[in-house]
Amino acid sequence: MDTCDKSRLVPSLFGSWVFNDTVMRERLPKNVYRALQDAIRDGRPLDSGLADILASAMKDWAIEKGATHYCHWFQPMTGVTAEKHDAFISPTPQGTVIMEFSGRELSQGEPDASSFPSGGLRATFEARGYTAWDCTSPVFIKKDGANTTLFIPSFFCSYHGQALDKKTPLLRSMEALNRQALRVLRALGNEQARRVSVTLGAEQEYFLIDRRLAARRPDLLFCGRTLFGAPAPKGQEMDDHYFGSLHERVASYMSEVNQQLWLLGVTAKTQHNEVAPSQYEIAPIFEVVNVGVDHNQLVMETLQKVARRHDFICLLHEKPFAGVNGSGKHNNWSMVTDDGVNLLAPGDTPHENLQFLVFLFAVLRGVDRYADMLRASVAHAGNDHRLGANEAPPAIISVFLGEQLTEIIEQIEKGHTRSSKACSSLQLGVSTLPPLPKDSTDRNRTSPFAFTGNKFEFRMPGSSQSLSGPNVVLNTAVAESLREIADELERPGTQDRNVRLQKLLREYAREHRRVIFNGDGYTAAWKAEAARRGLPNLASTMEALEAMATPKNQALFERHGVFSATEYPSRQEIMVESYAKSVLIEGKTALHMVRRQILPAVMAAAGEQARTVSALEAYGVPGPARELLQAMTAGIEAMGKALEGLEAAMAKARAAEGSVERGRRCRDDIRPALVALREVVDALEARMPSGQWPLPTYAEMLYEL
Ligand code: ADP
Ligand code: MG
Repeated sequence: MDTCDKSRLVPSLFGSWVFNDTVMRERLPKNVYRALQDAIRDGRPLDSGLADILASAMKDWAIEKGATHYCHWFQPMTGVTAEKHDAFISPTPQGTVIMEFSGRELSQGEPDASSFPSGGLRATFEARGYTAWDCTSPVFIKKDGANTTLFIPSFFCSYHGQALDKKTPLLRSMEALNRQALRVLRALGNEQARRVSVTLGAEQEYFLIDRRLAARRPDLLFCGRTLFGAPAPKGQEMDDHYFGSLHERVASYMSEVNQQLWLLGVTAKTQHNEVAPSQYEIAPIFEVVNVGVDHNQLVMETLQKVARRHDFICLLHEKPFAGVNGSGKHNNWSMVTDDGVNLLAPGDTPHENLQFLVFLFAVLRGVDRYADMLRASVAHAGNDHRLGANEAPPAIISVFLGEQLTEIIEQIEKGHTRSSKACSSLQLGVSTLPPLPKDSTDRNRTSPFAFTGNKFEFRMPGSSQSLSGPNVVLNTAVAESLREIADELERPGTQDRNVRLQKLLREYAREHRRVIFNGDGYTAAWKAEAARRGLPNLASTMEALEAMATPKNQALFERHGVFSATEYPSRQEIMVESYAKSVLIEGKTALHMVRRQILPAVMAAAGEQARTVSALEAYGVPGPARELLQAMTAGIEAMGKALEGLEAAMAKARAAEGSVERGRRCRDDIRPALVALREVVDALEARMPSGQWPLPTYAEMLYEL
């Protein structure tokens, strides 16, 4: 296909593997179509009588596209997606098969899924879990090699209905937010809105490394990051990669990624080179959060699959290379009514402004009160290398609002909203806000949670993480503030609504002003200031995970029906276990690489160098020859010691009782032992003749395309 044809075809290609609204209109009887639309709009399951008709229409469509199988596609607590395929075939008495797909098969599946993490929710003898279709996320077709399958986005629960996945709590949190936001809107006099949805735009960063080089790095294969590697002579100091012109090989790759994503109905929109060499970004247009999270999973999967076809490996790890920037995933978040009003967009009328301020305060209050939970939602072994490392936000949650909004909030706190720099007087519900130029709110890249004109950008999530967790916390924390606001506004009383609101927002301003910070989040001064303000600083994964287990947090999720009393601790357990497992795998990989690749290579090189030194003896050995030999033998010695240290640390972690203690040992013993081993190895690498180093170097991986 030449380029011209391709661009002409984009509109017809887009979503052509999705059972989308156009296809549904074409293929479904009117009553089924309408019932499905109602179910999607109200976020409830489809009537079982209609499901058979729908399933049959889906099957016919899928078969026309070449599908032989269907699968319930779900998101267990591993952070990646899971799928188990079944063929449409059904045997006949004549010994043949027909292609069948029932409403029941569409709506519900029963994978024997005992091997997924459940955090103690489910004993292996109760292996049965079930998956059920999330009809608000469209069904689609995916082609993997010669295999074509109908994918049904699903949630995954235990036999007793406990959530075992990342979708169920997300859907519940969306419901919670919808419920409370509608109460607030009604109390503010809005009678039209029938639903409030959360919107998500996920900016995804990644690295591309030549596949042949990556294949020779066990650390990249097993851990997704390099455990060793001396820096290349050039890093990112020239800032010449960021937004630079695309390398042709990368551009061709991006073109195929886009095409795949467009077929799947993902609005891949923006692409560019990122800060670090060999680092890139892709961003879609925002959409409803559960679909956005599903689509981000498809983005990550597509980035990786297409990479292989282009002889790349796509690294989604938060910190694949020391010394250059790591990768994050910005979570752009807002709330929108079904009639299209963005609740975080300042409006033109006093009424719209009031509504905006109420929702803005709800976010501010939610983020301040549940900062520990929000921090825990991005706690993850990989993200520890990034948060607080002066390339990503610190581990302290604060909110950037920009000068103008901050001033408005200060005025509300003082109780008289007058004489702002930008506006002469502001009476809630009576006067309008000054126009907020988008530029004034979009320049602080160091803030973990920044208002960017008509949405918030949560910048802490790691590049490899599912965005479900952070959005579950955000939605529920904001739902809680909205619940309190609605309670206050609905309370019978004589005071004028605006007066009551003014009073409430004044209290909120006083209580939560501490979380607003517009300065440079990378500085030590901010850390000290945050401590003075009493903001939690949960420096790494284990601190954050240990802090999440408070009655206050558990009560929040129970009150809004997002996590039950048993589900909540199970999440903590899974995250702690996953942290410990990741660190232990790094330990094992490091031992493997040093014992089987690095040490043997250095010893061989040292032997050769010793022979060189003796051969030169007769001529008087030149200093550099002897010095190199000494560096090698000293390095071998030091590596031996560091290996022992790592082995002892791993033994300690393995012997620890309980997952939390094991996690702490991983943090306090294994991680430092890995760093100590790395220091020795990297120093040696920098001295070794390049032909004798057994691993591809940073210079090769980051610069050879
Ligand atoms: P940048 O952060 O690079 O300045 P943009 O402002 O264009 O980029 O947006 C980044 C992401 O935010 C995009 O994915 C975009 O679709 C998304 N976004 C824009 N508006 C909203 C919204 N109301 N809700 C959620 N995401 C949004
Ligand atoms: Mg951004």
